[in-house]
Amino acid sequence: MTTWKCSSCDNTITAEVPPDICPSCKERCAYVDVTCYIPGCGGEKSGNINTEVFHKSTDKEQEA
Ligand SMILES: [Zn+2]
Repeated sequence: MTTWKCSSCDNTITAEVPPDICPSCKERCAYVDVTCYIPGCGGEKSGNINTEVFHKSTDKEQEA
């Protein structure tokens, strides 16, 4: 499974492919793959999220 982060509202979704419409903000938004591929990573509340990618993509979004 892959963890995706909505670039609009930062909602995370665990799915093989992200939905067309974000269930949180109801927008057709871009998703960032924030999956941590290290077994037992447990980042961001044990969701196997790569915190480095997660926060980097958030910072990039705020600059834009
Ligand atoms: Zn969203």
